[in-house]
Amino acid sequence: MLAAVLYGKEDVRVERRPTPYIGDGEVLVRIETALTCGTDMKVYRRGYHARMIQVPSAFGHEFAGRIAATGPGVDGFQVGMRVVAANSAPCGRCFYCRRGAFTVCDDLLFLNGAYAQYIKIPARIVKQNLLPIPDHVSFAEAAMVEPLACVLRGIDESRVVEGENVALLGLGPIGLLFVRLLKLRGARVLAFGRRPARLRLAEQLGADAVFNVDLVGDIPGQVRGLTEGRGADTVIECVGHPSAWELAVDCVRRGGLAILFGGCATGTTVRLDAERLHYDQLTIKSPFHHTPHHIREALRLIARRVIDASRWISHRASLVDLPRVLAHLAQPNGMLKVAIHPQEND
Ligand SMILES: [Zn+2]
Ligand SMILES: [Zn+2]
Repeated sequence: MLAAVLYGKEDVRVERRPTPYIGDGEVLVRIETALTCGTDMKVYRRGYHARMIQVPSAFGHEFAGRIAATGPGVDGFQVGMRVVAANSAPCGRCFYCRRGAFTVCDDLLFLNGAYAQYIKIPARIVKQNLLPIPDHVSFAEAAMVEPLACVLRGIDESRVVEGENVALLGLGPIGLLFVRLLKLRGARVLAFGRRPARLRLAEQLGADAVFNVDLVGDIPGQVRGLTEGRGADTVIECVGHPSAWELAVDCVRRGGLAILFGGCATGTTVRLDAERLHYDQLTIKSPFHHTPHHIREALRLIARRVIDASRWISHRASLVDLPRVLAHLAQPNGMLKVAIHPQEND
């Protein structure tokens, strides 16, 4: 089969690899669509991911396809079934899992290798996070469950209620999912981004005001100006850079909440005004990843078209084009998520 392998910083190669052999409880999926993701872009630029990838590694984590084979002991899944899998599953037994804190599981099992013609789904993911796709949902739409599940968890952590002022920093695919979900909660969304196509999409998804950060000198001042001088009730950062984390905290009102959602590089530190943190009674949270519950909820929202997942997919390409696609995505342009079709290469 053809598969993309990440060798290091900005080094992805599409190679011939043996199709995986499957064993007890495992499922082989023939991938119909894989999606590019901001996390993949970070991994591509940095050459590693602190939790998810050690190079050289199979690459990509958002995908949907058809079951090509099932191992002994697999229940409820048959060859030919259309399925989507999450890119992880918690162990269910450790100190953290017993307390329901699945995203900090001692042994969170990650799955990479979406940019390939086939992928082996480990037994633990088959049991917890492999879901049949409803007939009316396309493979590309179904593959959106992973990023949407992460955002649903972020929304749960934010506890945003109707009428709240929420400042959103960063309008990549994740920030744009937040726009839509925050509007469903009735929040007033002040969205800050850079690329014009994404600013427009934020507006179409319901953002109450959108700003190009290159044209706004003082972002916290802008937020205060729109919130009767207080600052935002909640700020959600979706950039993954220490300057954006610090900016997010600067935009929060007294007693407010900053959600620092974009993971930063290993070794990153951020500056915090301790006086402000304490006496202004700020809350800071930094949710990472998703849970099996959020994966199911994400597929439900996509199937009911509450989230029109197709709006997040701006381009399509074949697997052999992946290195070129990743290089393009690193540039500021109109691309959002690219649907990769691995079967087009045979
Ligand atoms: Zn992702
Ligand atoms: Zn665990």
